[in-house]
Amino acid sequence: MQKGARIAVFVDRDGTICFDKHYLSDPDGLELIPTVAEGIKRLNDAKLPVIVVTNQSGVRRGYFTEETLKAVHDRLRQILASHGAKIDDIFYCPHRPDEGCKCRKPAPGMLMQARDKHGFDLTRSFVIGDRMMDVGMAHAVGAKGILVPEPGDQYNIEKEIRESTTKPDFRADTFMQAVDWILKRLDKRD
Ligand SMILES: [Mg+2]
Ligand SMILES: [Zn+2]
Repeated sequence: MQKGARIAVFVDRDGTICFDKHYLSDPDGLELIPTVAEGIKRLNDAKLPVIVVTNQSGVRRGYFTEETLKAVHDRLRQILASHGAKIDDIFYCPHRPDEGCKCRKPAPGMLMQARDKHGFDLTRSFVIGDRMMDVGMAHAVGAKGILVPEPGDQYNIEKEIRESTTKPDFRADTFMQAVDWILKRLDKRD
């Protein structure tokens, strides 16, 4: 389809891929959200790189180490592999909000790190996330931002949307709907 086009699909972790357990430090606490494994597999089949971008301030808050975070991510890859799905790379921001880094969402630093490492065209890429900070990060670099609220909606997303200066390009009820929207758009564009 879009061979060599360097379009990527960036995916938030907590609340998008797995249920948000707040500073998760136990690999066994990972719980995939329905349709995520199947959706990632469809992106894999379409040859679209799937890149996780996640705020993990628990590292600098001292709640867990980067080794622990790596163990959680190894477990995530293992669970996805058992469904035939794979993530191509993972970027995380370890900083606390008060550190003023350039990579904590909604800042787009992680997208830029990924672009520099892999050569993606961010303006043609997509971000899937459960919070408006994910949409804001997408729009900061001209990417499309797709909102998929976490089942159970523990963050009152309606309020977040109302109070946000930007709006999602698409709002999906499930991860798979977000994937469908992306694949349909790419079909039309080619
Ligand atoms: Mg999230
Ligand atoms: Zn950071």
